[in-house]
Amino acid sequence: MKKVLVTGATGRTGSIVLKKLRDRSEEFEAIALARSPEKAQDRFGTTDGFIFGDIRNPSDLDEALQGCQALVILTSAVPQPLSPPQPGERPDMGFAPGGTPEEVDYRGQLNQIDAAKNAGVEHIVLVGSMGGTDENHFLNRIGNGNILIWKRKAEAYLIDSGIDYTIIRAGGLLDEPGGERQLLVGKDDALLKNTPGDIKPSIPRADVAELVVRALLEPTARNKAFDTISNPDGEVTQDFAALFAQTTPGL
Ligand code: NAP
Repeated sequence: MKKVLVTGATGRTGSIVLKKLRDRSEEFEAIALARSPEKAQDRFGTTDGFIFGDIRNPSDLDEALQGCQALVILTSAVPQPLSPPQPGERPDMGFAPGGTPEEVDYRGQLNQIDAAKNAGVEHIVLVGSMGGTDENHFLNRIGNGNILIWKRKAEAYLIDSGIDYTIIRAGGLLDEPGGERQLLVGKDDALLKNTPGDIKPSIPRADVAELVVRALLEPTARNKAFDTISNPDGEVTQDFAALFAQTTPGL
């Protein structure tokens, strides 16, 4: 039985990961870190197994990681409108004070990696985003937050941490059912620059969550970092060990 902490567990992908891990209760004891008891209650109908805290506070992480063998990092800065929307105009997007990519996607992720190391965690699965090889990517301009740059710096820190890692960099996330598509893996944003055929560089959150769960189980996912998108018309991915075997170590 592997004890796993999921952070960002009230988020859109994190909550699916937590549910999937709880459905495999013979393999995993899943606990969760989140900021809001109300949101946890709303999403799960209970706050059982939740520890409430903030990834900017190392002591919250020390408490949450006690006795864990694995950590799933699904926290992220979330862009929001900076002012009420005006009719016919797009709102200016940015980040709340304390919620910038530097504070959440970099320092918050580093806090989690450091706390995991102190707690003796053996494996960290980090979900990030494709696009990080392009400093001029439009996502970096949101609120001048450089979100993909900070995410990639945290990924590099994880790789150097000495803890086993699996870094899953997703294409555009979709709220669609999982388990119905072929999953494709790549590196260095090749799937963005040169997406095969006429498929879109996107993937359901449920498929990303399944990749996280399988990464916790499959030795071929250890010490790998990869991009991932999905092909809705391809043969549905069943063999995750073989999929991970196509991926490579390093950023
Ligand atoms: P999400 O719903 O935005 O969830 C982010 C989570 O981070 C939330 O649960 C949030 O907590 C938590 N969080 C933020 N700051 C925190 C803090 N200081 N302390 C504790 N928790 C904190 O995530 P998602 O849309 O599922 O995305 C998952 C990952 O995929 C992210 O890294 C995202 O950047 C990446 N990605 C997204 C896209 C896309 O198309 N959107 C594409 C590729 C990759 P609350 O629940 O309390 O708000």
